[in-house]
Amino acid sequence: MNTAQHDLVVLGGGPGGYVAAIRAAQLGMNVACIDENERYGGTCLRVGCIPSKALLESSHLYHDAKTSFSNHGLKIGDVELDLPTMMSRKEKVVDTLTGGINMLLKKNKVTTYNGRGRFISSDTIEIEGKSPARVKAAKTIIAVGSRPMSFPSIEEDGVRIGNSTMALSFPEVPERLVVIGGGYIGLELGSVWNRLGSKVVVLEALDRILTGIDSELASIAKRTFTRQGLEFKMSTFVESAKVQGDLCVIKTKAGETIEADRVLLATGRVPSTDKIGLDAAGVATDKRGFLEVDANYQTSVPGVYALGDCIGGAMLAHKAMEEGVVCVERMTGMGSHFNYDVIPAIVYTHPEIAAVGKTEEQLKEAGIEYKKGMAPYGANGRAHTLGETEGRVKVLADAKTDRVLGVHIIGARAGDLIAEAGAAMEFGASAEDIARCCHAHPTLSESLHEAALGVDGRALHTF
Ligand code: FAD
Repeated sequence: MNTAQHDLVVLGGGPGGYVAAIRAAQLGMNVACIDENERYGGTCLRVGCIPSKALLESSHLYHDAKTSFSNHGLKIGDVELDLPTMMSRKEKVVDTLTGGINMLLKKNKVTTYNGRGRFISSDTIEIEGKSPARVKAAKTIIAVGSRPMSFPSIEEDGVRIGNSTMALSFPEVPERLVVIGGGYIGLELGSVWNRLGSKVVVLEALDRILTGIDSELASIAKRTFTRQGLEFKMSTFVESAKVQGDLCVIKTKAGETIEADRVLLATGRVPSTDKIGLDAAGVATDKRGFLEVDANYQTSVPGVYALGDCIGGAMLAHKAMEEGVVCVERMTGMGSHFNYDVIPAIVYTHPEIAAVGKTEEQLKEAGIEYKKGMAPYGANGRAHTLGETEGRVKVLADAKTDRVLGVHIIGARAGDLIAEAGAAMEFGASAEDIARCCHAHPTLSESLHEAALGVDGRALHTF
């Protein structure tokens, strides 16, 4: 087998890998990108961010059509669900976007290899698949991502009991769906099926949902989701789950038995760093399988870099993409930098939950004195026109310097609103800076303005 020579080989074509490959090609490198799937874009585009948001959008429209169109004076008669069409729309969105990534790689003259890559030494990767190949480069990037966590006692058959990939493609609406794990993936997919008619029960081992999200917002979210029909069983540790006949039987540590038609296991993700020949490359992982890197994203082996989900931290597509850019720019000597304190996180339920920076708990724990400004959606004109008056914006600013330390939003379109907060924080803005910016009226962004004014007790539209 001939060995193809490149300047840089990227193993994994997800958001981290394909972005790194494109940026490296822009910088003049001869780049190869390997992925085991024909459709590039990784977990995010194929079975993550994009298909889940497509279903969230469709199921939200279905729910709105049934429940709130009439409030707007719109009579549309009986609303019927056509699940196969909803699913094929989702697939079309995925096809369009993954096709776009393949075209972008081509346009940037990145050589793509389709197959499973495995290091045979620190600078050479062998690719198994339809067209076996061997590639060699002075620099390699490991961007193999992550996969759902699994447990021997949860007997996944991939049909009735399985992970998020399964729950993105149920062939019919399950009557009863049990979601194990109250994180964002479980809540997003639980919301989809709840809106489409399933009775959804969320089993969470902790006493709160959405760890990592500001606890005040997480409590509001739980109350709201409960009103929407989701049932939560907190502090509930699942001991086992198995398929028995047509049923799934879930047993909890407290001795409760729960029956369901389907079970979604959503308890987190693990790095896909096994079976990629790390031994041959001489690269070690930590106990959980994550790769450790320095400020240049270089592993313990010179020339071998890693980024994205497989190095841990926030397992988010935009974090992986940012690392892809910064990693290759630093390879070429540019002084690029990624500010890990300002990574937005969004839960795409309804209402959306969005956060950037520190939570109140984190500030208290770090002993940082802060001021707080709060603005309810109910005081926002646009929220009323949208019929979306539930929600709030919270701005946390340093008590002495007024610098914005965190912004937390629950409410309609929170995911779009958080961008302004992130940009402001990146520029080191104070709450006063946001308060002095003229915000268009009527927009939801006025709530961020109002919360920033509220930091100094100057809110104008809040009782
Ligand atoms: P991945 O996207 O996992 O890409 C790695 C790629 O490498 C994969 O295609 C994999 O098949 C391939 N690969 C692995 N090993 C090999 C090998 N040996 N040879 C060849 N190819 C290999 N994040 C967000 O930011 N926003 C969201 O809304 C969001 N929603 C999500 C919803 C769900 C249901 C899930 C599961 C995830 C979601 N995520 C979301 C997380 C997001 O998908 C990941 O953080 C992101 O995809 C990580 O990018 P990555 O490039 O590190 O890895």
